[in-house]
Amino acid sequence: MTAQPSTRIIQEPAREIKVLKEADVVVIGGGPGGVAAAISSARTGAKTVLIERYGHLGGMATGGLVNILPNLSDISGKQHIFGLVQEIIDRLKARNAIFYPNKEDWGTTESSVLEYYLNANMGWFYVRQDPNIGGRERLLYSAVLDPEVLKAELNDMVAESGTELLLHSWGTRPIMEGNAVKGVYFESKSGRQAILAKIVIDSTGDGDIFVAAGAEYDSELESNFRTALAFTFWIANVDIHKLELFRSSHPARYALLMEELTTLGGHSFYFNGLLKNQEGVLWFHTFQVQPLASDAMDVEELTRVDVLGRRKARITYEFLKGNVPGCEKCFIMQAGPQLGTQGGRRVIGEYILSPEDMESDEVFEDTIVVLANNDNGEISAKHPTICIPYRCLVPVKIDGLLVACRAFSSKASVNQWFNIIPPCISYGQAAGTAAALAAKAGIQPRRVDYKELQFNLRNQGVNLPA
Ligand SMILES: Cc1cc2nc3c(=O)[nH]c(=O)nc-3n(C[C@H](O)[C@H](O)[C@H](O)COP(=O)(O)OP(=O)(O)OC[C@H]3O[C@@H](n4cnc5c(N)ncnc54)[C@H](O)[C@@H]3O)c2cc1C
Repeated sequence: MTAQPSTRIIQEPAREIKVLKEADVVVIGGGPGGVAAAISSARTGAKTVLIERYGHLGGMATGGLVNILPNLSDISGKQHIFGLVQEIIDRLKARNAIFYPNKEDWGTTESSVLEYYLNANMGWFYVRQDPNIGGRERLLYSAVLDPEVLKAELNDMVAESGTELLLHSWGTRPIMEGNAVKGVYFESKSGRQAILAKIVIDSTGDGDIFVAAGAEYDSELESNFRTALAFTFWIANVDIHKLELFRSSHPARYALLMEELTTLGGHSFYFNGLLKNQEGVLWFHTFQVQPLASDAMDVEELTRVDVLGRRKARITYEFLKGNVPGCEKCFIMQAGPQLGTQGGRRVIGEYILSPEDMESDEVFEDTIVVLANNDNGEISAKHPTICIPYRCLVPVKIDGLLVACRAFSSKASVNQWFNIIPPCISYGQAAGTAAALAAKAGIQPRRVDYKELQFNLRNQGVNLPA
């Protein structure tokens, strides 16, 4: 018997809450945006606390198993994004835990190089047609990383920065004084506690804190697969060579098998994991496309999708193992504890990034990062980059608050191109630096001097227009 939905409301009694820490800056959410925000805030001299609901950092880049850093260059192969993104890449490189094309190949049209990525089903991340050279395909600078090594590396980076880290801690509500955020309540096994701070950074991805703070936000969603909830899993111990040989020598048989797998409720599309230290692993990103634009804030929907996703993983693994050459000894290596969506609530900030910005070459006076604009065909060919203004991170009306994650201020149709991991790291780097400057000066984030912020970001290796 299922419990009936209820419309009853009860009152929660008021209670005293222990203040665990008082900080300059508290960051809620330890994904790409939040980790970068905390590290940058602490490095800029602020007493910083980072709280994360899971037992690891990295958000979707680690726990979500979407361990790909795309669009580090534009279509011609020119790198634009540097700063913390490149620092993380360099640290992982030193541990042999990241893979990307040789620098001399960025932008190449050489088919023998491109084939490697296309055969691995990684074309979306590594290959683009360039209208400027008659639509020929070129190779991007993109990277894949080992999520388990990244979790440990981010722990190190956070500790080295002097940030105080609290894992297993859910940020629940902002502490408000009028329209200003003064800290956050959070829940953990230690109960409900509070952290007071001069500046709060919402890096929850979903806007948990700014919504509860009463900030204005936009929840319009594009109706495409990106706004569907996704469950990811990896299948390991695959003889990739044997699988590829079968796929290329028996295309009709392979297509029939994949059709059968889909009919059974499995998932036929995978990426060949390109990690050199993990050969024989297939990566599956399964978007639960019924319905599109699913509500990532609805716990019953999250439960439904997780159960469906796990079943899909089992069906896929059993079918591959039993029917597909090369998969005889495969097993499910891991599944992401974090469901993902690329849609969601976006704060209304002092600037709202819109589709028109992709067709302009405006250098904003408060530009905090320059991003490659690779996904919009002719528009991308004419405007290979886009500048992101700091104001996209600053909510209108609410003080003491910055937003550094995919919920930055933007229209849905443009957010989807610039909410991926490298941009979110850059938003975090800018927000953390700005929060530390604001805390030090005793001013609101919206009053931070853009020139001072940019000076600090340049000193951290961020590439900004002159
Ligand atoms: C299926 C799928 C595939 C994708 N593939 C790629 C890809 O290949 N490359 C790419 O760059 N991007 C990809 N993306 C997009 C990318 O994953 C996200 O846009 C990016 O991770 C956003 O970073 P974030 O910091 O905003 O949020 P998240 O990565 O979601 O991090 C948010 C963090 O906050 C924590 N958190 C949330 N709420 C709370 C709370 N209340 N209290 C405490 N902690 C909280 C979470 O646990 C998490 O650690 C993909 C997305 C999906 C859904």
